[in-house]
Amino acid sequence: MEKTFNELGLEQNFIEGLTKQGIESPTEIQVKAIPMGLDGADIIGESETGTGKTLAYLLPIFQKIDVTSKDIQAIILAPTHELAMQIYKQVELLAVNSNSLVKSTSIIGDVNIKRQLESLKQKPHIIVGSAGRILELITMKKLKSHGVKTIVIDEGDRMIDENNIDGVKAIIKTTLRDRQIMLFSATISLKVVEIAKTLMKDPEVIKVGDKSVVNPNIEHIYFLVEKRDKIEILRKLISATKPEKAIIFINKSDEVEITTSKLRYHNLKVEGIHGSSQKENRKKALEDFNEGKIQLLVASDLAARGLDIVGVSHIFNLDIPENSKDYLHRVGRTGRMGEYGLALSIAVERELDFIKNFEKDFNIEITRKEIHRGEITEPQIIDKDRNKLR
Ligand code: AMP
Repeated sequence: MEKTFNELGLEQNFIEGLTKQGIESPTEIQVKAIPMGLDGADIIGESETGTGKTLAYLLPIFQKIDVTSKDIQAIILAPTHELAMQIYKQVELLAVNSNSLVKSTSIIGDVNIKRQLESLKQKPHIIVGSAGRILELITMKKLKSHGVKTIVIDEGDRMIDENNIDGVKAIIKTTLRDRQIMLFSATISLKVVEIAKTLMKDPEVIKVGDKSVVNPNIEHIYFLVEKRDKIEILRKLISATKPEKAIIFINKSDEVEITTSKLRYHNLKVEGIHGSSQKENRKKALEDFNEGKIQLLVASDLAARGLDIVGVSHIFNLDIPENSKDYLHRVGRTGRMGEYGLALSIAVERELDFIKNFEKDFNIEITRKEIHRGEITEPQIIDKDRNKLR
């Protein structure tokens, strides 16, 4: 039996707010996490990308906030600016649609601190942002965290890696002793669970589906090519599949630009995002992509992590990621919320082993195809490479 939001313990105004957003029934992670979240439990939640984990933690937070208080009551930490802004947008949307008086602000690095100080004077209840800047403001005593009841660590596996864990720990330390901590990610290794447990009290571990699951609505195919032909094959595949919106993944951030300009040369509507591009440029590229003004986005793994980009029909792997986790995150950008998605990997011989690993790790089939005269076909010459894969 499918559960309703009502049965999960949500109040009517939130249910109505969700309906305005076209959301009628809870996803699996929401069914499991919302009641626990409302109960105040510490949670480690593993959920596939695009399955509604943001609302799984936001809804309990919203319902528990005391709007008559001027305290900051929840802090949501995210590893990238885009993800923080995306979460912040969901917070604002939910507040408006559910007629809630919950106030929020985003606090991210590299942004004028003065404006953030101003926004803190508005007494927000929820802060969404990056650990570094939030900690800086706490240390400056401009952000008062003594009333924080809930901390969310989104994309948790990254937030508690060795580069980020100290900041997260320091923030947690400044909050109430009996605060609630919720950590979410698409992939949670045993190691992450172990570290997370040191931050939490007796956490509930929620897993949705099997271990790391690739969304079943995605079809996976690959093409075996020579390195020098990769761009040309990509161009042919774009022309053959006519994607409404596609992301082209490459392994190295510093090759985003060159790949983008090569595609632009073929008159394709394409932009690139990578970690080091100017924030304004990244934002503009993402907006244009989301609004459908550009058809193709070239991205590195780091730049694309956690982004909720709707309506992506195709994922192209111009380079094959070396670890399976990255493949999972990449293809998770398509086939969201039940839609069909196609993942096309353009591999050289050396990369076939990685493909073999993805098949094994996720129990999926990645079928070899070829492109001839603008059409994707079965391989015409069965060669030893095909056998190697099976
Ligand atoms: P997330 O996994 O949080 O990135 O969410 C992915 C997308 O799914 C967002 O655009 C949400 O608005 C949407 N979404 C979240 N929960 C539901 C639901 N229960 N039904 C339909 N869409 C949802």
